[in-house]
Amino acid sequence: MYYIDPHLHMVSRTTDDYETLAKMGCVAISEPAFWAGFDRGSAESFRDYFRQLTEVEPKRAAQYGIQHFTWLCINAKEAENVELSREVLKVIPEFLDCPNVLGIGEIGLNKNTRNEAIIFQEHMELAIAYEQQVLIHTPHLEDKYQGTRMILDMLGKHDIDRTRVLVDHVEEHTVGPVLEAGYWAGMTLYPVTKCTPARAVDIIERHGSDRLCVNSAGDWGPSKPTAVPDLVLEMRRRGHSESLIRKIVFDNPRQFFSQSKNFVLADPESRVGI
Ligand SMILES: [Zn+2]
Repeated sequence: MYYIDPHLHMVSRTTDDYETLAKMGCVAISEPAFWAGFDRGSAESFRDYFRQLTEVEPKRAAQYGIQHFTWLCINAKEAENVELSREVLKVIPEFLDCPNVLGIGEIGLNKNTRNEAIIFQEHMELAIAYEQQVLIHTPHLEDKYQGTRMILDMLGKHDIDRTRVLVDHVEEHTVGPVLEAGYWAGMTLYPVTKCTPARAVDIIERHGSDRLCVNSAGDWGPSKPTAVPDLVLEMRRRGHSESLIRKIVFDNPRQFFSQSKNFVLADPESRVGI
């Protein structure tokens, strides 16, 4: 089955991963800007990173017939440094017209601090000023519920079309409030934390398939870039229809991304295979 992985940090992955993804049916990925595993020293480091996301990765992905899209921001962890964040916010508009940029992301909260909240709101103002979609990271484990509530409260203060915002890394206790508020929700399939494929299918069975996406959020840490096909297998095992599976792994991300003028998806049927 063809699928799209809406959240995958390919700068941290090898070309072997691109090859495996292509063989498993992945036709497009979107890569939000994130924390590199260390704090960067200047806004120039982010400018270089944004060039990597807009110039280098699309070419690497194309070698395997995969379309690469991206989102730009300073991540929640480094957003603790307000001065650096404001310098990075000034750099972002230079890249918004690059052909693979879908919007602002993954912004959000990490430890739910005041500084993170300030920079989250400034990213929202930038997104609104430039009519960009938004992809949002919610915090890990014990910080997730409170952080998601804070994010929903902050989002409610901004005049943005809610169908152009995706709140990611939802779990059983946060998916309901996100969907009920009218936003898209993303479930991350991780080997240890976040959702397993079985838990993600439970959530789909309980909350329905509208405005829900799944992703691997593969990065430089323990993660599995081919986790979306694991969900396909789990849904088939439970007897779900191919059309429902396709809606979750292909139609839904395509529908969400299509709200960006830069999202032009090649027809998978006419794609030249590797
Ligand atoms: Zn991420």
